[in-house]
Amino acid sequence: MICNHFCPVNAYPMSLYENKTYFKVEQCILCGACEEVCESNLPIMEKIRKIKYEISI
Ligand code: SF4
Repeated sequence: MICNHFCPVNAYPMSLYENKTYFKVEQCILCGACEEVCESNLPIMEKIRKIKYEISI
C-alpha cells in the first residue's frame, strides 16, 4: 500500500493489484516511485507501461 502514498500524482498504483479500474493511467507520469518503494518488489512499471501501450494503440 505504500506506493499509493509516494505517487506524486495520486494515480493509485496499488489498485493495479486489486482492481485496475481505479488506476488513473492518464495521470501517471511514469516516474517509477511506486516500484522503488514497493516492499514486495512487484514489477509495477512493466504493468503500467503495458496498460499505457494498450491505450495508445
Ligand atoms: S510511475 Fe505512475 S503510478 Fe507510479 S508513482 Fe509514478 S506517477 Fe504514480
